[in-house]
Amino acid sequence: MNQDCIFCKIAAGQIGDTIYQDDEVTAFKDINPQAPVHILIIPNKHIASLNETGAEDQALLGQLILAAPKIARQQGLTAYRLVINTGAQSGQSVFHIHLHLLGGRNMHWPPG
Ligand code: 5GP
Ligand code: ZN
Repeated sequence: MNQDCIFCKIAAGQIGDTIYQDDEVTAFKDINPQAPVHILIIPNKHIASLNETGAEDQALLGQLILAAPKIARQQGLTAYRLVINTGAQSGQSVFHIHLHLLGGRNMHWPPG
């Protein structure tokens, strides 16, 4: 756990309300939602971004993505968008890797 990382604290249950948790991943509502359903799914292990992953993270990244349809189903969503902002220029502001799950409205393409 990274003591300075807000998402590590959420994964450890020190702050926030989680809506899903298992041994590998945690999910919680985004504090500043961009859609009627906006959930963040994170690995419990601290990894700064997708750029810091490697072959050893293959299973964990699979679990991160596979949590999305389960959580979407819980939320009553059949259509949703998954986003992983990677690097500050892409819009990444929290450097603990997270998968945005967005739904509940029509999505536009291309994204901004
Ligand atoms: P990024 O911009 O890094 O892709 O996404 C970070 C997301 O985390 C943002 O959508 C932001 O609203 C959300 N966020 C930042 N701090 C907190 C927090 O303390 N709690 C929750 N629930 N969401 C947060
Ligand atoms: Zn962290």
